[in-house]
Amino acid sequence: MPDNPLAPAWLQLPVDANAFAPQVWPATLSRDADGVAVIGGVRVDKLVADYGTPLYVLDEEYVRSRAERVRRSFTEAFERVGTAAEVYYAGKAFLSTDIARWMTEAGLRIDVASGGELAVALAAGVDASRLGFHGNNKSDDELDRAVAAGVGTIVIDSEQEIARVASAASTHGRRQRVRLRVRTGVHAHTHDFLATAHEDQKFGVALGDAERLVADIRSHSSLEFVGLHCHIGSQIFGADGFAESAARLVAVHARLLAGGPVPELNLGGGFGIAYTDADRPDRIEDLAHRVAQVLAAECEAAQIPLPTVAFEPGRYIVGPAGITLYTVGTTKPVALDADGTAAQRLYVSVDGGMSDNARTALYGADYSTRVLGRTSGADPVLVRVAGKHCESGDIVVNDDYLPGDVAPGDLLGVAATGAYCWALSSNYNYLARPAVVAVRDGGSRMLVRGETVDDLLARDLGARHSAVAAGTAAHDGGAPGPLGRSRRKEAL
Ligand SMILES: *Cc1c(COP(=O)(O)O)cnc(C)c1O
Repeated sequence: MPDNPLAPAWLQLPVDANAFAPQVWPATLSRDADGVAVIGGVRVDKLVADYGTPLYVLDEEYVRSRAERVRRSFTEAFERVGTAAEVYYAGKAFLSTDIARWMTEAGLRIDVASGGELAVALAAGVDASRLGFHGNNKSDDELDRAVAAGVGTIVIDSEQEIARVASAASTHGRRQRVRLRVRTGVHAHTHDFLATAHEDQKFGVALGDAERLVADIRSHSSLEFVGLHCHIGSQIFGADGFAESAARLVAVHARLLAGGPVPELNLGGGFGIAYTDADRPDRIEDLAHRVAQVLAAECEAAQIPLPTVAFEPGRYIVGPAGITLYTVGTTKPVALDADGTAAQRLYVSVDGGMSDNARTALYGADYSTRVLGRTSGADPVLVRVAGKHCESGDIVVNDDYLPGDVAPGDLLGVAATGAYCWALSSNYNYLARPAVVAVRDGGSRMLVRGETVDDLLARDLGARHSAVAAGTAAHDGGAPGPLGRSRRKEAL
């Protein structure tokens, strides 16, 4: 069968459209003798029977092992050059109390970026001294709560924030450890990085202002300056961007040493993962090794001791460990004229969409999909997986191949949805957010329950009924339904 001319150049016609590319799909995912996908020892049809679709599924062992792997990679690489490394899990990728505990058990610290994320980490029982607090516009109330809780470090993002953090710290009689976030002029994404003198973005302060602002920080007795921080981007392959920003930071870090101690250097997160078979991210061990070598060489050239380093991966840890399960509702062949050749793709519409995965619409992200409920010998066809929202840009998977007999009722899986999907989910079109379930050793457990229409109506103060409970009696002026009460069935 010839390639479809509508397929992007990177997408290969699969030899077997039932097979799972190992770097894209979770480690424990396979098919049983019936051809049904099994993840964490649980058949996906069992998950759907128990929880409905759409459903976020996390492979717990895989999340934990990726967290341990990234911590070990950085610790070992920096030990070899003679310093220590700390790894913070960037909670914004996906945060729940269970995940926060898994990260703590794997020896990671946690970064939070709002009062809400801080509350989740504290509700998980994470020792506040292991938390970092980020954000370009933290409120006085958030700073107060963070200092009161005893967060380990606050990452100062502006000149104005220095006095605010100092004031919160003195109110609570604390000496607060702080970092200063700088713009290094390096911005990286996937295979490219851009290095300029100035960056047009909201985070951090100009590298050239760092000395003056650190002097200001040091003038406050309620603040303890720990070091510089930068974060150069996301979904980055390769070490070149990190190496360039490390070199720029070391030059300033060395000058700051003249005015006092600078024990740490935080190089942020952004390590890329494979969303499709065409993505080839570097092994994290290799990346850690490269960055350690570069930093050691820069510090040697500057004749300064190596600081303790910190990293903040989010996507790398949870992204590949999550999949989303959907049920196919409608399929529709759409014929197009591509370069004078008649061609068509099959639109496959599922029971979720941009409300549970905004990344495709927001960033033009690519994803991979497979039919998980069965295998098929039908020839592969080019598909586009669309959601059910009233928006033509509501696409989950722009391009992949599925067996040509994919049909309503089929169970679809989309890979690598563990990061920035649930976290960015919305209630667009009044869809209820799906549940998040963890699978492990043949069992499943709900981490976050799905929303119900009652949940959504509970916040509408003009609502007279639970739409679900009241049903067709919605206009009869009867008693209010069970607003806000949780219901067993998650998929509405
Ligand atoms: C988002 C973010 C991260 C994590 O980025 P990933 O791409 O998920 O690794 C780390 N640090 C900061 C400051 C961030 O904003």
